[in-house]
Amino acid sequence: MKPKQTWPEILLTKALRERGLAFSTNSRGLLGTPDIVFHRQKFVVFVHGCYWHRHHLCPRSRIPRKDALLWLRRFAQNVRHDQLVARRLRLDGWWIFVAWECEILRDPELVGAEVARELGRRNEIRG
Ligand SMILES: [Zn+2]
Repeated sequence: MKPKQTWPEILLTKALRERGLAFSTNSRGLLGTPDIVFHRQKFVVFVHGCYWHRHHLCPRSRIPRKDALLWLRRFAQNVRHDQLVARRLRLDGWWIFVAWECEILRDPELVGAEVARELGRRNEIRG
């Protein structure tokens, strides 16, 4: 069982379904447990929270004043982990799309359109 979806995940999967795209939200066995998986295209979407995954220059990724150094170290670990996961998945032939929480909340349809466009490019290349 997949734990409860976050609000951005719910919005994005709804936008993708409305586009008629078929995907899975169960990524058991896949490194980094991506939130949305297009198995046939070997294409995954990570819905990243801006705070924990450190969205660059995003107001949601502020650094807490208290214990700032500790937090910075922890954040750096998160980012390193994300990079490692992305690198390994790419080596296995997966395409990766990172969808940021703040962008989905602002305009889920727009992010859905970007995912669909990337997926289309992926299909073209794979033939
Ligand atoms: Zn953000």
